[in-house]
Amino acid sequence: MIHLENIHKTYYAGSPLHVLKGVDLDVADGDFVSIMGASGSGKSTLLNIVGILDNYDEGNYYLDGRLIKDLTETQSAKVRNEMIGFVFQSFNLINFKTALENVALPLYYRGVSRKKRNAIALDYLDRLGLKDWADHLPSEMSGGQKQRVAIARSIIAKPRLILADEPTGALDSTTSQEVMDILRQVNREEGITMLIVTHAREVAEQTNKIVNFKDGLISSIEDIKQL
Ligand code: ADP
Ligand code: MG
Repeated sequence: MIHLENIHKTYYAGSPLHVLKGVDLDVADGDFVSIMGASGSGKSTLLNIVGILDNYDEGNYYLDGRLIKDLTETQSAKVRNEMIGFVFQSFNLINFKTALENVALPLYYRGVSRKKRNAIALDYLDRLGLKDWADHLPSEMSGGQKQRVAIARSIIAKPRLILADEPTGALDSTTSQEVMDILRQVNREEGITMLIVTHAREVAEQTNKIVNFKDGLISSIEDIKQL
């Protein structure tokens, strides 16, 4: 699903900062992989490149066999919309829209009628245990509930790949566990490939593979046995 070859990235804000120094990584279709590493090691930079939110300077990135390089903004947006769902630490929900409206949003962009998209969104909220919260605003919900809404929104468009940057970073340990359980369930039941960035070992241990990241390079990959 993801094939990275010798990916380099340098930021030029002030003195040049060589953040990714030749990353090679393969993520198989249906896998559930975490990236761990110290703050500032380049994890978000890598995830943004995989999500086609940012460019890289050198190397090759193939997504589902297609070379992702020098795409126009329209082409990148098309690939993102068709294939990739995003989950963020800060949830990125729209504050003046209800849980149901937030979840239904990707279907609105695809031109699905209001009645139909609301029915589908309610079904997704139900699957994530949030049916009774459909008409609530994000400000009325807990962090864990908000992240579940964000996950429902990311899966409603049926992406092949979900990228999650510190999805449990703003949550306490019990709630983190709930969110990881849901991500694992989505991975298993929908077969959606998951790539998660975290700095918490206990979160990474719930994925199938931990990619340890250090100073812009992968230092090791651990296989984790899940029961
Ligand atoms: P991580 O997610 O592992 O904490 P990041 O990928 O966010 O690391 O950042 C890696 C390094 O690149 C950090 O030193 C950060 O300050 C720097 N950096 C990140 N984004 C930018 C940017 N847009 N412009 C300049 N420097 C950046
Ligand atoms: Mg980061």
